[in-house]
This record gives sequence, C-alpha cells and structure tokens, in this order.
Amino acid sequence: MMRDVLIKVLLVSLIFIFAGCTEKKPDRDVIYQVSVVGALSAGMYDGDITIAELKEQGDFGIGTLNGFDGEMAAFDGEFYTVRADGVAYPVGDDEMTPFAVVTFFDPDRVISIDNETDLEGLKVLLEDSFRSRNIFYAIRVDGDFSYMKTRAGPKQEKPYPPLAEAKKDQRIFELKDVRGTIAGFFSPEYAGGITIPGYHLHFITDSGDAGGHVVECIIRKATAAIDDSDALLMTIPEY
Ligand SMILES: [Zn+2]
Repeated sequence: MMRDVLIKVLLVSLIFIFAGCTEKKPDRDVIYQVSVVGALSAGMYDGDITIAELKEQGDFGIGTLNGFDGEMAAFDGEFYTVRADGVAYPVGDDEMTPFAVVTFFDPDRVISIDNETDLEGLKVLLEDSFRSRNIFYAIRVDGDFSYMKTRAGPKQEKPYPPLAEAKKDQRIFELKDVRGTIAGFFSPEYAGGITIPGYHLHFITDSGDAGGHVVECIIRKATAAIDDSDALLMTIPEY
C-alpha cells in the first residue's frame, strides 16, 4: 500500500518535471521576426501569425497588420497600429501580421537626454553606447518631443502592389509638443534583405491616439533605453 502511494507520488513528480522541461519559454534576449523584409517588399502582405501568438515572443516591437494595415508599435505588452488617418488603434489579439519584429524589452543601458536633440543626434547618442554595430538593439525612447514627423499608409487591396508602389500612398503627419514613446530596432548593415538595416522606429503618443513610422523628430527631454541582442529568430512565410 505504502509502496503504491510512493510510486504514484514518484510518477506525478516525473510528469511535472517533464512538463517543466518541454514547456517552451522564449529566450528574452532573442529578437523574433515574422517573415523577411524581401517578402514584404515583393508585396506579401498577408501572414498567418496572430497578435496573440506574437505576444508570446515579445512585449515590445514594430510591424504591420495583414494587408499592410498601418505602422504597428508595441511596448509594455500593448500593441497599437497607426493607420492612414494618423490615428493609433489598439490591435486585437486575433488580428494577423505579415511582418513584425518583437522582443522582451529588458534594458541593458539607459541614456538621459536633457538638451534639444534631433533624430540624427539621437542616433549619435545611441551609437556611442553600442557595443558593436554588428549586433541588434531594441530601442525605446520615452519623452517630450517638440516635433515629431511620422508616416503611415492605407491598407492595401488585392492584388497587392510591391512595397515601393504601396509607399506612394503614404501620408505624412506632423505633431507638435507631444509626449510619447518611440519603439524600434537598430539592425546591422549585413542584415539587409532579412530585415531593415539601420534604424526602424515607430512612435505612439502617451494618450495612445496618434503616431506612425518615425521620419524626423526633435526631443526636448527623454530617456533612451537600449536592449542588446545577438540572436534573431525568424519564421518564414508559407505562401
Ligand atoms: Zn515602419
């Protein structure tokens, strides 16, 4: 009797141990990318990864929704997309993405910016703190911006045009005196073709009502946080 109980306890323990081993925990330092930028350039604007699935790979990042529907930005686990009207919309878990780059944001360094700084100045400050230009960095900038210029385009209709064509429909937005968050990445030059090399930054206002793909900005005061990453995990689209 006692032995039976013991065996049962042992079996239950083993099941727990195996369950623990097989449960896939994402590596928080890996950058996870849906599709390759070359597929997006060719007009492959529909993916089969849901935002709920994307959230399992990161709480921070950028991308777009199926049909190239807006400029998506995520931080603190909140996902928004900025559409052609310049308005930021919360993204539902059941929506799908053809291209996205996410990670779990754990900053390795934080820089305080107290002087007026434009986008080029921000890049210089960030690069001063880069370990190397040959790894990936997730970048988050929270602050006051005296100027923010962004862009976003309308959802595309089938048959989808290539990206260069779709970009002609994009609109430009200029915001003055806004508080908000820039989310994005720096990717090495050699990664072109896989992802967008250099900086790819999106912006959402604190009130969560506007933003887009960052074209230019002037920071009044901000903190820039950098999360180093030397690994990229990609899912390849099946068209
Ligand atoms: Zn963008």
